[in-house]
Amino acid sequence: MSVMACGRSDCEHIMCNILVLNGSAYLCFDCFEELEQFKDTWPERISVRQAERLVRHFMGTEPGTYLTEGPQLVSRDEAFKEVTR
Ligand SMILES: [Zn+2]
Repeated sequence: MSVMACGRSDCEHIMCNILVLNGSAYLCFDCFEELEQFKDTWPERISVRQAERLVRHFMGTEPGTYLTEGPQLVSRDEAFKEVTR
């Protein structure tokens, strides 16, 4: 743990300084940002225990799993073709 490796499965990042799960694991900034996006899908009211379970689940997922993608933008002409076909 001396290199402070990200505790998320398949994440190669080191020198992470965000501690999660009561200090038992490090998380890199990218994964933390993704965790925040994942958090937005949680129920409005939740117990700390449920949240902990969800974070543990998150740690076992591959980076990118919970990235919320914005709407796919295409060119005006392409969009026009799609809706007039
Ligand atoms: Zn990471």
